[in-house]
Amino acid sequence: MVRIAMDPVEGSLPAPKWAARARRIVRPAVVSLLARKEPKYHPRGNLFEKVPFIFHLHPHHCRPLKRFWLALILLTFAATALPQEPTAPPIPNSAQANTPPLPPAAPFTPFAVSAPKTNAPAQPSLIAPFDSAAATREWLDSIPADQKAKSNAYFQGGYWLILWNFLITALIALLLLATRTSARIRDFAERSTRFKAMQVIIYAIPYIILTAALSFPLTVYERYFREHQYGMATQTFGPWFAEQLKGLIIALILGPIFLVALYAVFRAAPRTWWLWATAVVVAGTFFFSFIFPLFIEPIFNKYTPLTDPKIRDPILQLARANEIPVTKVFVVDASRQTKRVSANVAGFLNTTRIALNDNLLNQCTLPEIRAVMAHEMGHYVLNHIVKLALFSALSFLVGFALTKAAFDLLVRKYGSRWGVCDIADPAGLPLIGLSIGIYFFLITPLSNTSSRVIEREADIFGINAAREPDGMAKIALKLGIYRKMEPTPLEEFVFFDHPSGRSRIRMAMDWKAANLPNGTFDPSVGKPK
Ligand SMILES: [Zn+2]
Repeated sequence: MVRIAMDPVEGSLPAPKWAARARRIVRPAVVSLLARKEPKYHPRGNLFEKVPFIFHLHPHHCRPLKRFWLALILLTFAATALPQEPTAPPIPNSAQANTPPLPPAAPFTPFAVSAPKTNAPAQPSLIAPFDSAAATREWLDSIPADQKAKSNAYFQGGYWLILWNFLITALIALLLLATRTSARIRDFAERSTRFKAMQVIIYAIPYIILTAALSFPLTVYERYFREHQYGMATQTFGPWFAEQLKGLIIALILGPIFLVALYAVFRAAPRTWWLWATAVVVAGTFFFSFIFPLFIEPIFNKYTPLTDPKIRDPILQLARANEIPVTKVFVVDASRQTKRVSANVAGFLNTTRIALNDNLLNQCTLPEIRAVMAHEMGHYVLNHIVKLALFSALSFLVGFALTKAAFDLLVRKYGSRWGVCDIADPAGLPLIGLSIGIYFFLITPLSNTSSRVIEREADIFGINAAREPDGMAKIALKLGIYRKMEPTPLEEFVFFDHPSGRSRIRMAMDWKAANLPNGTFDPSVGKPK
């Protein structure tokens, strides 16, 4: 008798059967985790391999726990509010009006830029079998040992930075509360004006400056010295610091606006604020996504139309084949800040635009560029921005509900010591930050998994659109400069917001091994009679 894990009847099964069943399920899972073998290729990604494992661990005596896991898993999809890749200004309407119409599509030559191996005719019987595992190994072994060690050290250092960032944020919050600094700033705000919204603004400005200043040592290590140490950064300290200041100014403008809305909700609905605060966050996310490419991104980088037809036209062909309404491709001068390779597709309706960074343009061949751009188009076609916004809303809903419980409890206990009255009191902001910070820290593996699942979707879309398995493998190697290529399955589950290089190369090689018919056709045939 086989039942799925969520079957409600399973709760009535006698314990001994469960023990045997749990052993049957858990033992191979543990063995495979410990064996650190090549992860089994699974078309639906890692999440779906791990989730049943979680359910099976809690068999019959904790159905509420199951619901909790289910809720948690759902909200994990949410934790990434914005796309991983940077976004960029949409095509201004005026520029679009001046754009000459797209040149007529070139004759259909799908494999003009592919590696010759993928060009084989679709006659499986004539083709030597292709071992995708061995091919994956060959790609991975092509990385020099010292480069592999360096990228592993860089990426694994990032695991600790997650912890350090969390600890610093928590420490700053506790410091502001325990020293009554937060209460004093609130008192100052209350003395300055009787308008509640103004009080929030007057509280928010020193709060943002203080937290930025106190966390600056870690910021400067993580984003400046460490990036230079590993050869990623291209900026000297002066321009880098100037950009940090610009970022702070943006935070000082947008932060208070967001907090005024949030505290209006706290005052209006002190018992159900967690529900309405989620709505504020969702509205804030959409507002920010809207203004980010228009007003914020141009402060840091310049976007110019790509003019080289040898690169531009194949990208536009890919876009056209996938119903993405663009007439221009943009290049962003990311090399000002970094050596990383990146690209993105963003915007709404007639503001949709595709951008690749100049590192990608300068360091990569056309097959690699096509592979990356097809992945980005996958994010667009599969509506990933909307999905992530919805997941983000779910994630905050649970986070705020837990925060409400924690806040009420802690204020009852320590409120008088910290000088914090209730949720509508701005002096409690560090406590809200602390609570939501702990929550997001704890769900790091789940939020990474939500992102990784989405990235894997874009990967499979991309490889089917670009048909560049070797280009995809080469790009995976290039991204491997800053991302560990061969993590253990557990490591990938916890820390990876994108599939590992090994997973990506394996996907590319599996695609190559499938050797799909290449779709070359004569445009004059196939018409209705
Ligand atoms: Zn992506």
